[in-house]
Amino acid sequence: MARLVMKFGGTSVADLDRIRNVARHVKREVDAGNDVAVVVSAMAGATNQLVEWCRQAGALHDTREYDAVVATGEQVTAGLLAIALEGLGVEARSWQGWQLPILTDNAHGSARIVDVNGDELIKRFKERKQVAVIAGFQGLHKDTGRITTLGRGGSDTSAVAIAAAIKAERCDIYTDVDGVYSTDPRVVPQARRMDKIAYEEMLELASLGAKVMQVRSVELGMTRNVPIMVRSSFEKPEDIDPSKPPSGTLICDESEIMEQQVVTGIAFSKDEAQISIRRVQDKPGVAAAIFGPLADASVNVDMIVQNVSADGATTDLTFTVPSADYERARMTLDKAKGAIGFERLDGATDVAKVSVIGIGMRSHAGVAAQAFKALSEHKINILAITTSEIKFSVLIKAAQTDLAVRTLHTLYGLDRA
Ligand code: ADP
Ligand code: ASP
Ligand code: MG
Repeated sequence: MARLVMKFGGTSVADLDRIRNVARHVKREVDAGNDVAVVVSAMAGATNQLVEWCRQAGALHDTREYDAVVATGEQVTAGLLAIALEGLGVEARSWQGWQLPILTDNAHGSARIVDVNGDELIKRFKERKQVAVIAGFQGLHKDTGRITTLGRGGSDTSAVAIAAAIKAERCDIYTDVDGVYSTDPRVVPQARRMDKIAYEEMLELASLGAKVMQVRSVELGMTRNVPIMVRSSFEKPEDIDPSKPPSGTLICDESEIMEQQVVTGIAFSKDEAQISIRRVQDKPGVAAAIFGPLADASVNVDMIVQNVSADGATTDLTFTVPSADYERARMTLDKAKGAIGFERLDGATDVAKVSVIGIGMRSHAGVAAQAFKALSEHKINILAITTSEIKFSVLIKAAQTDLAVRTLHTLYGLDRA
């Protein structure tokens, strides 16, 4: 007997049939003797619709009201799943974030969890074997008492936080793929499923574009030591043998992985924009004059490339920002033009970042060099490069993303045999 968290994403609860399917998965674990807390997302597409309504209601809306609106999607699925479970004879009740509560800071729209109270859930496991069905994605601001949401994909983080709070043996993330692959299996059909992946690698994959897990959920799993299993809700509940280890990908500590490859995965993101500042003065303080105002405007700057000045007086500086921040970044720089001193701004939103990740890179030289050669052989021009201990990224034209990902996937021997 164990204590488990089972999280189901949007496509897994897309309609009543899918919700009934989820109820059968939950019943399977309950019948096997486990105490279960379920975390649900909104039905597929529901959150997008709610976000769109907020935008149409007022372009510059109050983010506290945005949260009040977008948190409702999860309320619906939590209630529906509790009803479906009761229909199968499983005692269950729904919980909203504010009812537990799940306390957060006040960064409305992308709040961070500060505390989860799991006491009442544990009490009900012990007293009546009651399944808790918890609305993911939402919380309560610890001081103002207002509803918050955790950022897109945030139900993953709700699930891991609850797993830590109730000291669950494992947090199962049920989704529409049967594990974590070497790259997005929808782009590269030869992608290989991994049995295990280290938290650190998953963190890089997620931050660099693989949306299978929200970044913060992996961070939390790593710091609170929660084993996370990514698996499919599309596997028939009746076909699963509870006495066998589940099939999927375990996200765990590096020390639990016996065979370590140099490169484990490739991630990509098309939500990137590039800004080049032409003929900026080459003197101390210029970087501060540029990146200070951008930071004040909450623009997230990523890759930065500065050319060596040819004339000793001016140079070009290129960097990337998320495409959602592109217009704000340009406006901010235009306003600061006098203080910075540059000739003009060039920008592009048709760029993508492709990243290669692997803990083995710590101890292997020349991994990135191989990629540069392979990309050039496919006439893929590299606009910028960044490297760190266990990954490197290249910025390329967005139209070449799939080709670049496939090329690198093959290059590093990741294609399925
Ligand atoms: P959910 O609605 O269950 O939260 P998401 O859509 O957020 O599901 O995440 C699952 C999707 O992540 C998959 O459908 C897949 O296309 C995508 N994905 C991207 N990179 C990877 C990867 N490396 N391994 C598995 N899935 C990935
Ligand atoms: N429903 C929210 C979203 O679509 C949270 C989640 O599904 O994880 O972003
Ligand atoms: Mg998700």
